[in-house]
Amino acid sequence: MKRLYEAAAYEPPHACWWSDTVEPPHWPALAGDLATDVAVIGGGFTGLSAALHLAGSGVDVTVLEAETPGFGASGRNGGFCCLGGAKASRKALLRSYGTAGLAEWRATEVAAIATVDRLIARHGWDVDRHSHGETLLAHTPRAMAALRGSMPELRQDYGVEPELIEQGDLPARGLSGPFHGAVRLPLGFALNPRKYHSGLATAAAAAGARCLAQSAVRAILPEAGRWRLETARGAVTARRVILATNGYSSEDVPAWLRGRYLPVQSCVLVTRPLTEAEQIAQGWTSDQMAYDSRTLLHYFRKMPDGRFLFGMRGGIRATPGAEAAIQRRLTAHFHAMFPAWKEVEITHRWQGLVCLMPDLVPFCGPVPDMPGVFAGMGYHGNGVAMGSHTGAILADLAAGRPVEGPYPAAMRKAPGRFPLGMMRRALLWPAYAAAGILDL
Ligand SMILES: Cc1cc2nc3c(=O)[nH]c(=O)nc-3n(C[C@H](O)[C@H](O)[C@H](O)COP(=O)(O)OP(=O)(O)OC[C@H]3O[C@@H](n4cnc5c(N)ncnc54)[C@H](O)[C@@H]3O)c2cc1C
Repeated sequence: MKRLYEAAAYEPPHACWWSDTVEPPHWPALAGDLATDVAVIGGGFTGLSAALHLAGSGVDVTVLEAETPGFGASGRNGGFCCLGGAKASRKALLRSYGTAGLAEWRATEVAAIATVDRLIARHGWDVDRHSHGETLLAHTPRAMAALRGSMPELRQDYGVEPELIEQGDLPARGLSGPFHGAVRLPLGFALNPRKYHSGLATAAAAAGARCLAQSAVRAILPEAGRWRLETARGAVTARRVILATNGYSSEDVPAWLRGRYLPVQSCVLVTRPLTEAEQIAQGWTSDQMAYDSRTLLHYFRKMPDGRFLFGMRGGIRATPGAEAAIQRRLTAHFHAMFPAWKEVEITHRWQGLVCLMPDLVPFCGPVPDMPGVFAGMGYHGNGVAMGSHTGAILADLAAGRPVEGPYPAAMRKAPGRFPLGMMRRALLWPAYAAAGILDL
């Protein structure tokens, strides 16, 4: 596979907290050839949700994962099951898709959370759930004024009542810090992403899906009206194929993907459990999942066992030196925001790849000129809910049945290509620099 980053970006995370919390499911490697109705490439939330929705309706489905179960972003994210999925501004969405298109997109964001909620409830998974919606903290007075001004739009877009929290009321809510107020939207919740992934994997297998690991697809070739997916130790032929490789995609499997996605690193740290006294000393006792109003945002939450998770964008390079530097920066940002925890041990650190698209909206639909092949990707760092929902849409598309949930115009347009080809990571330098200035 031809991929954009240095090799280290495609290695398993060294110290990911989630790996300590749950045994991964056992998936054998493909050995020999097999035929299936639908082959899913990628065993993260998108691929597994598609597999579960297909197998649950009696379709023969095979998941091919290049590495281990949950190797990609699905096994190493922040666990915010939240709104989002697009990076395009509200204005840009309105310009491109009109009022109805914006409303459809917003309904999809809400439906995506409901998709995860429904799956968890139906299967009874214990995913260490917490948080009543999401809390957005203003990092400057100007950002607070913007949040105040956005209340009518939030109400209109999401059909819920947002709660404005004034700066003076933050301490009483256990949300102390360098913040100028906040808005809480009563949509979404936090979860342990590995436990959720494990639930999806177990349910998909129980419904009859074949899940295979260490089975990287090296080529997708047409063969007598079907697709032949070649791996090192055998091939799978399928009538339909679902591409669910997101930030771990390659330029050549299939060649259509070349230049159409931009993986971006995000990094996370987790502390040891904080004592009650430590939480009080910092003034952060809330279990709300939260993020700040910067374009290059920080996301953070106190988990049910008292550990604190803190994340932000990663580096542009993935060399050992660059990764060490970004981890130092992550620690510095964490300590600047939560100074009372400077001495608290950070037990886990890792990074992973999220995926941007040229139009800054996700794609879900048929791959042009590859009949029977569908792709779902590009959630711009918000794919817990949107990836799961996209998987459900892909299942309907691959099964040839009407799509059940919302499937907005914003997701249907096949992506174009980023400029600069294999050098397109360079676009991130000016983008990060500009965002850094705007965030002051
Ligand atoms: C550090 C970090 C924090 C994040 N935090 C959040 C968060 O809090 N909330 C949120 O909503 N989102 C978050 N995200 C984003 C979210 O995790 C992703 O959007 C989501 O997991 C994407 O799921 P996926 O199944 O599409 O892709 P992935 O989970 O990335 O899975 C793709 C899989 O495809 C496999 N693959 C690639 N090529 C091949 C091939 N040729 N053959 C076989 N397999 C292949 C890869 O090995 C990989 O396992 C975060 C991401 C990161 C990295």
